[in-house]
This record gives sequence, structure tokens and C-alpha cells, in this order.
Amino acid sequence: MKSIKGYIERKTMLYKTGVEYGDYTMNHIQGCAHGCKYPCYAFIMKKRFGQIKSYEEWIEPYLVSNTIELLDAEIPRLKNKIASVHLCFSTDPFMYQYPEIAKMSTSAIKKLNSAGIKCTVLTKGILPVELSTFSRDNEYGITLITLSEDFRKRIEPGSAPLDQRLAALKELHDAGCKTWVSIEPYPTPNILEQRLDELLEEVSFVDRIVFGRMNYSTEVTAYKRHKQFFNECAAAVEQFCFDHGISCHIKEGTIRE
Ligand code: SF4
Repeated sequence: MKSIKGYIERKTMLYKTGVEYGDYTMNHIQGCAHGCKYPCYAFIMKKRFGQIKSYEEWIEPYLVSNTIELLDAEIPRLKNKIASVHLCFSTDPFMYQYPEIAKMSTSAIKKLNSAGIKCTVLTKGILPVELSTFSRDNEYGITLITLSEDFRKRIEPGSAPLDQRLAALKELHDAGCKTWVSIEPYPTPNILEQRLDELLEEVSFVDRIVFGRMNYSTEVTAYKRHKQFFNECAAAVEQFCFDHGISCHIKEGTIRE
């Protein structure tokens, strides 16, 4: 197990997102030890605005010590406006091997649920089974872009091993929770040769699948058929979801004419 680097304080916690799925969100950690190399959009933005100086600094997480106090102050004011709160968009609420972070995240979810607010969760860590005792409106998700541990170690070096990540999600599903998977950012075959149908079979128990392409980089566009490839993948995901009665969301910009 690992320890956080330290604590910081923030002035606000809940805010409305501008993204296509998600209503309100909270980010109660600065930095992320998963250190994804897609690259991570949150890291790029924090670096651009001078809040983080380097990748090395980004992968040393700080916890927001006044998270629960801020929720106590903000929930009464916002609860009639909030449909759901997503944890998290610019960090990971169940960072692998950081029990202090998991404890704060479960406390925050409990607090939001007790005010009647549903939470959606997305992680590349391990979802704790105690979440199965929380509100049945909550939705628990993992990111899974591959079944290859070698590729996972290369591109998401600090994240949880894939089999453990999947097993925790399945356990919550088996306990009656709503589950989902984010297959994003999906790589082109020149980055990783893999079978999308095998990946989909592994997550066929979930209630919802979100699929999105890897952002255009020289590596992605070096694959000449990238547009056609992503169109075909999106069609395969839609068909799979239709056949299995799974809700499906293809991220904007994944399908191109
Ligand atoms: S898990 Fe999410 S927030 Fe953390 S480094 Fe990866 S992409 Fe960034």
C-alpha cells in the first residue's frame, strides 16, 4: 500500500461539468498515481495552467483535506439542482493502493447518497465491495481499453491490474449494483493489435458501455485507415450492446464520415 504525498485545501468541491455525460462532478484529489500516458487530459490542463510542473509531480497525489466539510456546506444549496455527481473527471477516486483516497471517496459518496444524490464512479483502480451497500441508484464503472497486461503496464503504469479491476466490477454487479465500462481511449491496431470482440465479451455483464477513440496523434493518424477503423469499432460496439440489451454511448467524434 502507498501513502498520499500530503493534503491541500480547496474553496469549492461540487461543480457542473460541460461534458456530454455527467451532471455535477467533484475532484477531491490533486494528481493521479495512475500516470496514464494516452496522454491524460487532466494532467495536460493542470500543467498548462501551472498547477503542476511535471509528470513526476502529477503522480504524487494530494488529498483535499476539507472535502467533507465542503460537501456539508454545498449540498444543501445545490441538492435540488443536481441529478448526479460523477467521481471523478480530473483524477481517480479509487487510485490503486491508496487506502486514504478510497476512504475519502467512500465517505463522499455516502454523504451525497444520504442527501438523495446519486453518484457515478469511474476508476482504473479497484472498486471496494462495500459500495454494494450504498444507494442502488449509483453506477460503478471501470475503464478497460485492453485485456493485455503488458499494454496496461506501458500506458497506465500505476493503475490496477486488469483482472483485479474487472473482478471488483463483477462483484458489484453480482451484488445487484448498476455497472458500466468505459472503453476509451481505444487504440488503433498499429499501437496495439487486439480483438475488440474478446474485450466486449469480458464486460458483457455490465449495464452500460461507453466507447471512444484515442485522440488523434501522429501515432493514431499514422494508421491510414484510422477513421474507418473507429467507425467499424463503434458499429461493432453498438451491435454488441443491442444483442446483449446493454445501454450504449459512443463518444462524440468517434464516428467520422
Ligand atoms: S486515471 Fe484518469 S486522471 Fe488518472 S492519470 Fe489516468 S487518465 Fe489521468
